[in-house]
Amino acid sequence: MSNAPTANRLRRWRFALGAMAVLGVLLALFAATASGSARENAPPPPANPEHQVASLPPDPRPTEPGLASIPSFAIPAGGTARVSDTAASGQLFRVLDSTGREIARREVDGHGRPVETRFVLPTGDGITIDADYGDPQLRAPANSRVLGRRLSNCGANDQVYSNWYFDYSQSGAFTWYWHQSTTPSYLNLTNTLDSLRNAHSEWIYNQNWCNIADQADALSSYGGTTTRSLGNDGVPIVGWGDTDALGGNCVGSIACTWTWWGSDYHVVDTDTRFSNDTARATWINGGASGKYDVQGTMAHEFGHSLGFDHAPTTDNVMYKDQSTNNMTNRELGRGDANEVNTKY
Ligand SMILES: [Zn+2]
Repeated sequence: MSNAPTANRLRRWRFALGAMAVLGVLLALFAATASGSARENAPPPPANPEHQVASLPPDPRPTEPGLASIPSFAIPAGGTARVSDTAASGQLFRVLDSTGREIARREVDGHGRPVETRFVLPTGDGITIDADYGDPQLRAPANSRVLGRRLSNCGANDQVYSNWYFDYSQSGAFTWYWHQSTTPSYLNLTNTLDSLRNAHSEWIYNQNWCNIADQADALSSYGGTTTRSLGNDGVPIVGWGDTDALGGNCVGSIACTWTWWGSDYHVVDTDTRFSNDTARATWINGGASGKYDVQGTMAHEFGHSLGFDHAPTTDNVMYKDQSTNNMTNRELGRGDANEVNTKY
């Protein structure tokens, strides 16, 4: 019994050491903040835990022929909806049916704009609609016009960034087609095709910019030009047009991708449309003030076609926003490279 006070002191001493160790980690994090690399750290936990909500964001219906038969993003009878904050300063809405099964989810960005909606149909098939927006608050890095070397910084973010709730993927060779005649007349057609093809190659070959070896086996090839329009017809299409007419998330976007998958979670079709509204977006094959890079935007959209969600950090292609005069989005970051290695 006479040893008890000593034992207690020992425990307190150990506790004090533990507290000092934690303090050291915090100091190191603050030092990282001061040197400007803090954004490479893991995103903070959501400020608000998921909670139930009585209503959902607006759900504009598609007007494009062939895209009309998607479910409403609404709470079904007996069902519920829940919302939580995302690492990218937005919100994630989830819709559950009366049995508690998740049947749809929608991510909105910090401006309330829907960037992604996914549905699981009663057949077991699914649809995802991804939209991308210009963000005037993003600035192009000073080196964004430098060619022939790594454009984006690779950061320290090794994490596999997605949560694979509806884990669809492409299976086997996928052939995509270019709706060439929709391309804006101010774009050089040869350079545009190069941009579109390079963007696909970025993922297919898992271009190694960040010292992460390619272990992936994603496949895709260019099949030529087409005059087909968007819709679930088994033919992947890339082109320009009225993204608002696609409805849903696509309203107000600079580019939008629809993807359909079967009950085996293999993609059966995926179509991408760039906005042809010059008041919203003008395009270039490269970097220029006020213009969006075709290749970088295509790289992001093709990432969605492969089944990738948005990444929380700007050093990945799958970051949710596009900025003008910026070509860094052409090149896979650490998270992108690890994602494609993991999924394919
Ligand atoms: Zn996106």
